[in-house]
Amino acid sequence: MKPSDPRYKKARARWATRYAIKTGRLVPGPCEMAGLECHGKIEAHHDDYRKPLDVRWFCRRHHLKIDGHAMARPFNKNGMGKRRTA
Ligand SMILES: [Zn+2]
Repeated sequence: MKPSDPRYKKARARWATRYAIKTGRLVPGPCEMAGLECHGKIEAHHDDYRKPLDVRWFCRRHHLKIDGHAMARPFNKNGMGKRRTA
């Protein structure tokens, strides 16, 4: 895979995330959609693959859901939790 390949960035981000978890720099949190029928293991989701350590946590089910629909609103760290309407 060449560095110019977009998949290369993704692969690198995933690798960096795995490494960060292993070394304790990143600690997996609960699924952001907790309570809405979570299922599967917690996975890291990247909004921006150029920031491999800027991740959000989702269970397998919700991660697939998020990746399936590009989220309309950009991720705002300070607004975390506020936009959660049930
Ligand atoms: Zn979930």
